[in-house]
Amino acid sequence: MPSIIYEIEDSCLELIKGDITTQKTDAIVNAANKALSPGGGVSGAIHRAAGPNLREECRTLGGCKTGEAKISKGYHLPAKYVIHTVGPVYGESPDDELCLSNSYKNSLYKASKNNIKSISFPSISTGIFGYPVKEASEVALNTIIDYLRKHPGIKLVRMVLHSDEDLQTYKSTLEKILNSPGQQ
Ligand code: ADP
Repeated sequence: MPSIIYEIEDSCLELIKGDITTQKTDAIVNAANKALSPGGGVSGAIHRAAGPNLREECRTLGGCKTGEAKISKGYHLPAKYVIHTVGPVYGESPDDELCLSNSYKNSLYKASKNNIKSISFPSISTGIFGYPVKEASEVALNTIIDYLRKHPGIKLVRMVLHSDEDLQTYKSTLEKILNSPGQQ
């Protein structure tokens, strides 16, 4: 399935199937754990590709709470920065949706503060943390669109999905959001 690009104000929101570690955007986002240790999934892949200096820097960042975001250098990654955010473990609290939205919002805010113009996200919380992809896609895309409408500066937000199925789910959700009344 080819990539899909939508224009939101002066910015682009792109959905692709791919590997977050190879993205050549200014920053990539890590679906991190609270200790900011390598772990598995996206985080393990990012740490392997970035090299051991990323782990060293992460040790100095003081961990990360659910919904918050921290920034580090990208080391051997094509991206200059990694923004680490911890999504909610699905079903652990009644605030799952708010926490997931905060992960996207605070990552974008960190990007704006660091003058980052392009950023790639994985589908936060939908792997080991068990968030259903459809529900997560609604939170992710609504939050990103809302942010782009309010904050000019970031020119490209790329959602990097790991499977055709996830890409299709995100695409359907985005079309539904953009076609809903009040979005024109
Ligand atoms: P979480 O712990 O937040 O659930 P995971 O890393 O377990 O994070 O998974 C988040 C999502 O990222 C899952 O949908 C998973 O399939 C996907 N994923 C795993 N590896 C990669 C990768 N290299 N690039 C992009 N997405 C990935």
